[in-house]
Amino acid sequence: MSDILVTENIQGASMNRLMNDLDVELDAYLWQNVNLLQKKIQNAKALIVRNQTQVNRELIDAAPHLKIIARAGVGLDNVDTHYAHEKGIIVCYTPDANSLSVAELTIGLMLALLRKIPEARQDTLTGGWNRVKFTGSELYGKTFGLIGMGRIGTLTATRAHAFGMKIIAADPYLAFDAPQLKQMNGKLVSQDELLSQADVISCHSPLTPHTKRLLTYQHFCRMKPTAFFINTSRGEVIDEKGLTQALLEHKLAGAALDVRETEPPKHSPLNQMENVILTPHIAAFTLEAQDRVVDSVCEDVRLVLSGKKAINVFEP
Ligand code: NAD
Repeated sequence: MSDILVTENIQGASMNRLMNDLDVELDAYLWQNVNLLQKKIQNAKALIVRNQTQVNRELIDAAPHLKIIARAGVGLDNVDTHYAHEKGIIVCYTPDANSLSVAELTIGLMLALLRKIPEARQDTLTGGWNRVKFTGSELYGKTFGLIGMGRIGTLTATRAHAFGMKIIAADPYLAFDAPQLKQMNGKLVSQDELLSQADVISCHSPLTPHTKRLLTYQHFCRMKPTAFFINTSRGEVIDEKGLTQALLEHKLAGAALDVRETEPPKHSPLNQMENVILTPHIAAFTLEAQDRVVDSVCEDVRLVLSGKKAINVFEP
């Protein structure tokens, strides 16, 4: 039983150094075996996870020596942060390390949707040369609606603005004159206004009890039939069946999902839809972001275990 338990696939130069210097057990699949995890965590002082390990009350209760839970990533929906706080365990995360990568994937998905890149590729590979069939639309002049205008939303909006898109955002915690909106002539609107006005809608809110199923069938039906929907936040923020139904009824033009209600997802009618792009939760998976994420959690674990203050502490 080791001092530092790493329960998912978290690798890189900083992790190698941590393993050389300290007592670390890295088991990329441990998150799948809850009984074994509960045993192995008994003596652990630090736990390093991504988003698959469920760090709930039961797990925290099984870890009387735990000083720090380090989440390699941003969303903390898999960690009971309140209970950890109550128990005096520090929760760290990596708030800025992968935002840019998520923003860039979102822009990539938007371009792929509007220019039908995956469909055109598939058609060409099977012998087609159908130029007119794959006529797309420009981003320029279109309205981009962001649900959630935090770190990732803002970086995505800045890039969309550079393409000449008009920016609107719905975020209940943002002031109407927030500087991040002002600098790109963006407008704060209600979620209903955003759904009916935007040509592309992208979701960047966290998953909380308030945002679970924030968008249902009824919401997708309020979108323009020519509009596209992108989700790189968390799968449970939308009702996936509702989106599927709305797509089948042509209430919107297409969608791109990096995140799903269940991961890995079960078979879904979305798999057969030409106007849907599905990726396996890869938004944060770039070499650069992964290096930054692993550097950050390893640094915070070292600091806390040597009695110092961590850098990226999450306060619930
Ligand atoms: P952030 O906290 O900086 O921003 C989230 C924003 O959402 C905040 O401005 C908040 O006010 C807003 N918000 C909260 N409730 C809302 C609601 N009901 N409607 C609209 N907006 C609401 O977080 P971030 O760093 O921008 O990350 C956002 C989310 O992206 C994370 O919580 C995480 O779940 C997800 N994420 C996904 C990946 C991936 O690999 N696909 C990677 C990183 C982060």
